[in-house]
Amino acid sequence: MGNDYRPMWESLGLDLEAHDQLLNVLPPTYGDVYLKQENRPDKMEYFDFVFNEIHGLRIQELQEHKAKGGKVVGAYCVFVPEEIVRAAGGVLVGLCSGVEIGSAQVEKVLPKNICSLIKSFMGFKLARICPYFECCDLIVGETTCDGKKKAFEILNDYVPVHVLEIPQMRREKDRQFWFGELQDFLKTVEEYTGNKITPESLRRSIKEINAKRSVLLRLNELRKNDVLPISGKDSLLIEQIAMYDDVDRFTSQVNGLCEELETRVREGKGVNKPDSPRIILTGTPMAIPNWKVSHLIESSSAIIVAEEMCTGLRYFENLVSEEGESVDQMLKSIADRYIETNCACFTPNEGRTEELVRLAKEYKADGVINCSLIFCDPYMIEANRVEKTLKDHGIPLLRIETDYGQEDSGQLKTRIEAFLEMIKR
Ligand code: SF4
Ligand code: SF4
Repeated sequence: MGNDYRPMWESLGLDLEAHDQLLNVLPPTYGDVYLKQENRPDKMEYFDFVFNEIHGLRIQELQEHKAKGGKVVGAYCVFVPEEIVRAAGGVLVGLCSGVEIGSAQVEKVLPKNICSLIKSFMGFKLARICPYFECCDLIVGETTCDGKKKAFEILNDYVPVHVLEIPQMRREKDRQFWFGELQDFLKTVEEYTGNKITPESLRRSIKEINAKRSVLLRLNELRKNDVLPISGKDSLLIEQIAMYDDVDRFTSQVNGLCEELETRVREGKGVNKPDSPRIILTGTPMAIPNWKVSHLIESSSAIIVAEEMCTGLRYFENLVSEEGESVDQMLKSIADRYIETNCACFTPNEGRTEELVRLAKEYKADGVINCSLIFCDPYMIEANRVEKTLKDHGIPLLRIETDYGQEDSGQLKTRIEAFLEMIKR
């Protein structure tokens, strides 16, 4: 990081010693995973810069936004509509939780046998090392799984939490209920920001977030080519950065990158070899800086062509309709878009398995790797349905269960390599 941000971190109440330990781990990891890749697109430079300034410049921008009276809202799930927060002049940041931290403190308030993501978000707060967390005026939780639902009660002891109840079926009554949840959320956001959401502000915000999703779709379309112009690891990084970067700047940078990638495709400049197995990654989201499985796959001769995950297609594949005149009509379109997210909290969740079959065809995938976090019941159990459907369609699948630790890396690498050997072109 270029500047001295310590005074800013201190003013946010961070534990500087613990924070230093985190920063000392991140840059070497990033160097190994990202900077050693060959033949990277030049325009990845912006995303390297944003990652490098993850606790610096972006936090400074959020602080400036707050100094002008703006609010910052944190979220952990792609069910939280950014359109609503933005329409009230707020900034929504995805709180990452992709690294094991503060475990000793966490195990005082949570059971040991809980998924890494929940442990991580609680650890970030209890150990006071996340400047995003400390910037937040409000956290939005949800009831997607039991672990999160109960953990948010505890988190509410430290920071105000608004919990969205997520329907787990898609019947008409569930859709109506979800619309009502979003009406309540809109009111809460108006109260916290002190700003009324108008049809104009909501329409503008829908268009801006649609533009962000569209550019991510444009990027992903390019990954269908035989010549892959970008690695799966770089694509994942961009999908992770989408959750916290400035919306308009991010959209414009990804557009610029896509222009470079289109040229690379035309000139036949790929990051893959013609015989590299093409893999679709599916499962629980991979929050920054969780790149373990992607790195293992791509350092084993394969290439990832798509992420059927919340840090991936689930985040940007559907757009909100831009029709509608009143706030309620637009809110209904927002509700309709979000309820189609193929999260394993839904029962049944056939949309996800059908989508995987479609993606495997469109992206010419040779196999699918289903990765669940250990102790994540929804995804670990749903792996059974994924396996069954893919088997019916003759698509090879590898199921893995892991956490944020590195202890299983050797064993995972062996299993991934055996799978790649089996499906090799
Ligand atoms: S997997 Fe489900 S709970 Fe997790 S971020 Fe995605 S939608 Fe939310
Ligand atoms: S990974 Fe699974 S258990 Fe963990 S928060 Fe997400 S849905 Fe819940």
